[in-house]
Amino acid sequence: MTDRVLDVADLHVRYGEVAALRGVDVRVDEGEIVGLIGPNGAGKTTLANTASGFLDYDGTVDYRGDPVRDREPSDLVEAGLVHCSEDRDLFGHLSVADNLELGAYRHADDWEERREFVYDLFPRLEERSGQHARTMSGGEQQMLAIGRALMSDPDLLILDEPTLGLAPVILDDISEGIEEIQESGVTVLLAEQNVTFTMNHADRVYLLEQGSVEREGSPEDLRGDDYIRDAYLGQ
Ligand code: ATP
Repeated sequence: MTDRVLDVADLHVRYGEVAALRGVDVRVDEGEIVGLIGPNGAGKTTLANTASGFLDYDGTVDYRGDPVRDREPSDLVEAGLVHCSEDRDLFGHLSVADNLELGAYRHADDWEERREFVYDLFPRLEERSGQHARTMSGGEQQMLAIGRALMSDPDLLILDEPTLGLAPVILDDISEGIEEIQESGVTVLLAEQNVTFTMNHADRVYLLEQGSVEREGSPEDLRGDDYIRDAYLGQ
């Protein structure tokens, strides 16, 4: 029997008049990488933010069996639900090493060990440990944002658009990083516009369009779907 990490059922989220999510069902089981794909405005970020406890909602959003609405986002981080936002939220005037240290929100005792794990994952961060975050390239900043999230020792890592604006050469580093994160036992929810990248990494994928799940399945299933091929894979 698998353990359910995140259970989203009949989820509705509105921004005033705008219905951003309209009855969404998504599940994430222990050890999986689950991809959320969809065009601009489909609701991927809204789902990521709701799961992390930042937004009000109607319906079910349970992390490890408990509703996220009952907890502050900081309590959810304590519990292991860690969000890496598309804005990256780095401290630009602080060094790479300081940004990592500040990320060690929970399990502060073993932060040096965790930093070694991050440096092994992204050696570029160790090479640049004294450099101000704001002077790093976009790809390096993304590695740092993921690294900082890992400093909190996540059980579920929610990655929102980790490849946004990144050069192909950096995508390989991020790809390897995500695979190693999964191998280390972390469950991942990956919200991404880059369909090929997501299909290459996810165990299961949900396609969101206009706030609803239009397709779900394994990457193999979705690659065999005419609609997905025509609209998203350009084949
Ligand atoms: P993108 O890939 O462009 O980030 P997305 O799939 O993440 O898109 P969301 O950002 O979740 O989509 O947006 C879903 C819908 O909610 C869109 O119609 C968007 O305009 C709307 N929306 C998002 N944030 C707000 C907000 N703060 N106020 C009003 N409407 C919003």
